[in-house]
Amino acid sequence: MPETITYDALLSRIQAHDGAAHDVFDPATGALIGRAPVEDESALERAVERAHAAQPRWAALSDDARRAYLHDAADAVERWAEPLAELLSREQGKPLEGLNARFEVGGCVAWLRATADTPLPHEVVVDDESTFAEMHYRPIGVVGAITPWNWPMMIAIWQIAPALRMGNTVVAKPAQSTDLSGLAIAAILNIVLPEGVLITVTGSGRTIGQALAAHPSVGKIMFTGSTEVGKQIIEASAGNVTRLTLELGGNDAGIVLPDVDPAAIAEGLFWGAFINTGQTCAALKRLYVHDDVYDDVVSHLAAFAAAVPMGVGLDTGNLLGPLQNRKQYETVARLVSAARDSGARIVLGGEPDPAAAGHFYPTTIIADIDPHNPLVVEEQFGPALPVIRYSDIDGVVALANESEFGLGASVWSRDRAAAQEVAGRLQAGTVWINSHGGLHPMVPFGGAKHSGYGREFGIEGLKAVSEPQVVVG
Ligand code: NAP
Ligand code: MG
Repeated sequence: MPETITYDALLSRIQAHDGAAHDVFDPATGALIGRAPVEDESALERAVERAHAAQPRWAALSDDARRAYLHDAADAVERWAEPLAELLSREQGKPLEGLNARFEVGGCVAWLRATADTPLPHEVVVDDESTFAEMHYRPIGVVGAITPWNWPMMIAIWQIAPALRMGNTVVAKPAQSTDLSGLAIAAILNIVLPEGVLITVTGSGRTIGQALAAHPSVGKIMFTGSTEVGKQIIEASAGNVTRLTLELGGNDAGIVLPDVDPAAIAEGLFWGAFINTGQTCAALKRLYVHDDVYDDVVSHLAAFAAAVPMGVGLDTGNLLGPLQNRKQYETVARLVSAARDSGARIVLGGEPDPAAAGHFYPTTIIADIDPHNPLVVEEQFGPALPVIRYSDIDGVVALANESEFGLGASVWSRDRAAAQEVAGRLQAGTVWINSHGGLHPMVPFGGAKHSGYGREFGIEGLKAVSEPQVVVG
């Protein structure tokens, strides 16, 4: 029978039919969109057992066979792209258009294919008269994949695809506020994958996530989320010496040097900060601008920002959406209030509509703010950007590096060599020049300091979900 590819067909594959469940509401409208299952620790136990049982047969396939499965999975995501994007938009809040829901589903396809196509041959490390030594990359076993709610499909793929490619099986735990998106992307992959290779368990982080991290049969945890929960995962997994890749919080600095053309960089600065309505780990979250160009950069940025439409994700033309959940809305509102109370200048936004049905916080730009204001030093994870004035490059580098986070950073200048010199002094896993936040499936990504450890994507990312084995002789 041919597949029926509709939004309703997707929802019926993943909805809770019986047992414990929670209602899922559209953050833009408050409308009920579905019910997601709430599973308990016994479900997690069964999932790990099934994944563990399926792993030897999956690992015994050739690398080429697993690569073909990932391409088949990418084909399936392409066929289901429109229903997936619609669900993502309804549940997460991000609009269909722009760098949002359709873009995220496209990212899933791109990462599946790139992960399939990245070669990882054995590496000869020594080959001389006395020694021949090679590095082989073996499967670890069962990988636990724990994801956040901001890019719930794409981040799941970032964890699942390399783990599968390297011969591991996966137990995935989506963030509870975007359970349906996590279930949906896995359900589409499971149209093509063999039984037991990828299992999703939904439920709270404190029960399912914690039990997954502490499980002795789980060899590796891929975790993306907050630094606080990252530390809990380190503790929960310590007794089993579980391998960890931790992609944690960020509070990325951008430094604008005095030689820029403010009109030319406004668009790049805006999307660097406001992609996914600011709910992005490696978004630009504090912008330091040299005094010589400060007023022009602020005014061009604010003019660009004021013209970008925000609204319900399924409505044509919107490029920004609501905050995904009330807790995040309250964090942004608290930080903007603190900035206002300190005397900082609200250039744009800052006044949410109390009658709005969804968790909409308007695009907000705040100038002349103290470098130690909470909006600057905390991760806001929403559409409010502080712009800090500086005049001394050593001082601004010190301020950028004061943060406990070190995910990304950017330097903006017409002089590439000058920008690279500043980049070399920044404590961050990635430094972009004249852009911020762009990712590529072959370019390693990850954080310094409390933004985590380990790298995803490309060859580094494949190695991260394998057990290196040296074969000598
Ligand atoms: P979060 O609260 O840390 O939750 C992330 C995931 O961990 C969710 O699935 C959550 O489940 C689960 N969890 C909660 N408590 C747990 C525990 N004790 N043990 C195991 N798992 C547990 O993060 P979030 O609020 O969803 O996401 C926002 C944060 O993620 C931000 O700080 C952002 O910067 C960061 N982030 C980082 C990256 C990166 O690549 N570095 C990318 C995206 C986001 P429940 O939802 O059920 O609680
Ligand atoms: Mg901040």
